[in-house]
Amino acid sequence: MTLSAPRRFRVPGQGPRGTLTRMQSIEHFIAGRFVPPAGGAYLDNVEPATGRVYSRVADGDARDVEAAVQAATAAFPAWSATPAEARCRVMLRIADLIESRLDEFARAESVDTGKPLSAARGVDIPRAVKNLRFFATAILHEKSELHVTDREAINYTLRRPRGVAGLISPWNLPLYLLTWKVAPAIATGNTAVAKPSEVTPMTAHLLAKVCVEAGLPPGVLNVVHGSGAGAGQALVEHPRVATISFTGGTKTGRGIAATAAPMFKKLSLELGGKNPNVVFADADLDEAVAVSVRAAFSNQGQICLCGSRILVERPAYAPFLERFVAATKALKVGDPLEAGCDLGALVSRSHFDKVRSCIRLAVEEGGRIECGGDVPSGVNDRCAGGFFLPPTVITGLPAGCRTDREEIFGPVVTVRPFDDEAEAVAAANDTDYGLSATLWTRDLDRAHRVADALVAGTVWVNCWLVRDLRVPFGGMRHSGVGREGGEESLRFFTEPKNVCVRLRGDRRQGPG
Ligand code: NAP
Repeated sequence: MTLSAPRRFRVPGQGPRGTLTRMQSIEHFIAGRFVPPAGGAYLDNVEPATGRVYSRVADGDARDVEAAVQAATAAFPAWSATPAEARCRVMLRIADLIESRLDEFARAESVDTGKPLSAARGVDIPRAVKNLRFFATAILHEKSELHVTDREAINYTLRRPRGVAGLISPWNLPLYLLTWKVAPAIATGNTAVAKPSEVTPMTAHLLAKVCVEAGLPPGVLNVVHGSGAGAGQALVEHPRVATISFTGGTKTGRGIAATAAPMFKKLSLELGGKNPNVVFADADLDEAVAVSVRAAFSNQGQICLCGSRILVERPAYAPFLERFVAATKALKVGDPLEAGCDLGALVSRSHFDKVRSCIRLAVEEGGRIECGGDVPSGVNDRCAGGFFLPPTVITGLPAGCRTDREEIFGPVVTVRPFDDEAEAVAAANDTDYGLSATLWTRDLDRAHRVADALVAGTVWVNCWLVRDLRVPFGGMRHSGVGREGGEESLRFFTEPKNVCVRLRGDRRQGPG
């Protein structure tokens, strides 16, 4: 861990006012070294479960981005010429090192985000390891297309890395989503400048340390910390960063697209969602309830794929709601570091305030709070200042209301009845988003029919968040542009070139 020089400075929220304490500083990672920000500015890094500042993070600007792009540019010729097997080996070492430090990484992720330690340990960090292994080994099986043009020519496709990639990731699944971009980018021979969320920079910092230890050549991966408006915007604007992979909110994605388009950058946008969860009356209700609770409230509802709008066929509505509310009330909101906690804290004070305002809006729109709704009373003493909200279930909202159309990204779900399949599909598709959808039925024909009719990049039938890293992943409409995963990522980070070779001699006669 990079500790700041033996400098002393004030730690807001810790100790008596004005106390001088040493605190961990998270520096940029540029050209294989940890370096302070050019402008000398740092941002507070808050532990959401306590509301206290526990470290500080470099607040990068265009100068830091420039240094990182220079380092990545300098590293590109050698790295892109490194044989796939050697690139694979170093990436597998990074994966092994993360896995061997599972506890350290999981704790860091939990403290930084407010998510239960069990989730960081069981989901986030193992998935980051898997991302690295998946793309490290995928490049060993690379193949290319060959097209024969009658008997006149053969065409083959070369795929080459594009140079320096800008990778911008959000706070909800910090290492999981960062490695989902870093792994395919560097596996295919690009070099990268990553900009993690300023709210959750810690595991990106630990990743950088592991890259040094694993022997990743300097400059192949650089990490510039700081705000989106500062470091993030400078990265998108940089003329030598021709590839931008972004995961985050739709509004931010729109701004990034506007900046990148006039420079003809290649852009991947993974954006927000407002995902329907459609339950038909013939579904296995026990399973539908149990999985829908997980789909609604995992990671405090802060997963882009959360099923935040539940639609239930009328005959099953009352029994579903009764069981769903009972299961929701049984969830434990608590200190994320304690065993048995189902929901931890929301990621920040501002996000906590936003989610609360969404609950107030739902009530104004005529919603009835079936459970949750307000700040839970005292989680424990350590967490007295944390950003906790209980899982909240809302019914009775009018069709087309803002609560059902706008992303909340918190532990808030709405439930409403429907009368037939056509109504269910129309209601499910009634948003600007199209990221994912879930449907529950035992009727195979209906499953296929409704899956086809739903406007979503992923449809889960009788399950949720079953992930195969080979499948195309991404959103329709305002949920994004492009796809990640498997071949889609490998293609995104490479540039295809067709080579057409004329076949000499008269081959038009054919054999015989
Ligand atoms: P966000 O505010 O859009 O931020 C995402 C990233 O972009 C952060 O690193 C942010 O930096 C940076 N950023 C902000 N403004 C920027 C700018 N002008 N130029 C370049 N970068 C900029 O999103 P978030 O609040 O972190 O994440 C929540 C959102 O992400 C939700 O809408 C969720 O649905 C979406 N999401 C989508 C997927 C998916 O796969 N489709 C997955 C996860 C999350 P700072 O944080 O430092 O400001």
